[in-house]
Amino acid sequence: MLVNGNDILLKAREGHYAVGAFNVFDFGCVDAVLGAAEATNTPVIAQILDWHPSGNFGSRPQEEVKMFMDMLIYRAKLSPVPVCIHLDHCQTYEGCIRAIKYGATSVMLDASMKPFEENIALTKKVIEAAHACGVTVEAEIGHVDGHDGDTTGKLYTTPEQAKEFYAATGVDSLAVAVGTVHGVYAEEPKLQYDLISELREAIPAPLVMHGGSGLSPEQYKECVERGITKINFATYMLLAGGKGISDKVAENNAAGKGNNFIDLYPEGVKAMKEIVMEHIGYFQTKPIA
Ligand SMILES: [Zn+2]
Repeated sequence: MLVNGNDILLKAREGHYAVGAFNVFDFGCVDAVLGAAEATNTPVIAQILDWHPSGNFGSRPQEEVKMFMDMLIYRAKLSPVPVCIHLDHCQTYEGCIRAIKYGATSVMLDASMKPFEENIALTKKVIEAAHACGVTVEAEIGHVDGHDGDTTGKLYTTPEQAKEFYAATGVDSLAVAVGTVHGVYAEEPKLQYDLISELREAIPAPLVMHGGSGLSPEQYKECVERGITKINFATYMLLAGGKGISDKVAENNAAGKGNNFIDLYPEGVKAMKEIVMEHIGYFQTKPIA
């Protein structure tokens, strides 16, 4: 069933577990992510991007985006588990509105690079429009490093900032910088567990961890117990899918067999589904009743 962010995350916050938010780029990713949620009978968040020429993550023809969204929504509605379709990392009001038009049930307005007051003003503007459509909003304060060309450096979210931001916006969920980075980890992340506890205490909105792929099972456990409610996971899922395919290619080559796309592609999907299921376990996502 198709639901919004609050439908999933408020329950999770109360139940002290986290829900994974996995980025989907094509129907194989959708099959892997929703398939993993269905196999574990757990709620899930499928994340899309603002694939528009003015978006911050590469563009696609808008007809193609609409077709993909139509399929994703249809698939989500057929699912027996709650599925939220969430726009990840959108830097503009316009991008959030586009995603709502395409049928997203949750959007992230990422104005964390802007001055604090501008972040508040833009977040409020997006909330006003999104809430009118029953769509929930995630915002970010502090800064999670690591996207291409992003060399801002770590900037942890403080409880005072979180309180002030929440009081001013009433945002539904908040992405906080607590020591993770986007992409592949070059060195062990320095997670600020006490800060997570303080942030949970500071605001009633669910806390979101970006750069959430590549941590150890123990690190996830501690983050979830301290108060992280949504964990964004993309990089290592995509790498697992690539490895699933390359392993099959190596196996075929060793056996002197040809490599047929029809046989290779499902190996990638299968590997992504497996890593997603594994992480649903690490995130302690509670099965639906
Ligand atoms: Zn992120």
